[in-house]
Amino acid sequence: MKRIAVLASAAAVLVVVQVAAQVRDIKPGFNIFSPEQDVQMGREAVKEIEHTKPILHNDDVDVYLSRVGQRLAQSRHAGEFPFRFHAVNDKVVNAFAFPGGPVYVNSGLLASIDSETELAAVLAHEMSHVALRHGTHQATKSIPIAAAAAFFGAMIGDDSTLSQLTQFGINFGAQSMLLHYSRESESEADLNGVLILHDTGYDPRGMARFFERLEAEGTQPSGAATFLSDHPSPGNRVEVVDREIRMLSHTPTHETDPRAFARVQRIASHLAAHAAGDVR
Ligand SMILES: [Zn+2]
Repeated sequence: MKRIAVLASAAAVLVVVQVAAQVRDIKPGFNIFSPEQDVQMGREAVKEIEHTKPILHNDDVDVYLSRVGQRLAQSRHAGEFPFRFHAVNDKVVNAFAFPGGPVYVNSGLLASIDSETELAAVLAHEMSHVALRHGTHQATKSIPIAAAAAFFGAMIGDDSTLSQLTQFGINFGAQSMLLHYSRESESEADLNGVLILHDTGYDPRGMARFFERLEAEGTQPSGAATFLSDHPSPGNRVEVVDREIRMLSHTPTHETDPRAFARVQRIASHLAAHAAGDVR
């Protein structure tokens, strides 16, 4: 009898340990938009950004970004959106994503990181904002209920989502759709990003390393300040990321391509040195 009791309590301990070590899946929050509208709004934002930012059209850079990005997109935590990866020739250390899939990395960020793994961490963070639909979730929260109801009732015809919103007095430019996520969204993007890295054979510690370095660089001009103001720290960022990584099973990391990274970094550094800085 005593033995059974011991076995039972051992089993209970095992169950508790398993539950405690489980990493939670993060689901998108409340949203009045459809995933198709995320894609459409992203497309409209891309058109706007192509006129306002110096998009870097360089095959080496684009091919490499897409290679790393598409590997990450295979994770189930990256969702179903059609991701696209491009660079902006801007010396400020920053990256951003639009609803529905377009992801941009500044040449200044490419110049400042130290490996493909860190790049993968940045992309995985941005892709998590897309997969978790943070842009339209945030937009949902900012729409007055009456306007949302009218918007719902009138979504017909060929008008774009953004111009339909404007008819109801709701103004979203490309800029307002992506900047300054909430700290809750940031925390979700960090943690979901770690899962994407882990799923696709990148060392998830790259996420903690990237933020460690940003925090160390602090408020240097054209340094980390812009990334951190667009992606504010939810608090104890590195510790929280480290804690999640410790809960993950240990899986072997896949090879990266240091030579391709070095080549892309050389191109980006050269261009960034002559680029303007979009410091806000
Ligand atoms: Zn973020």
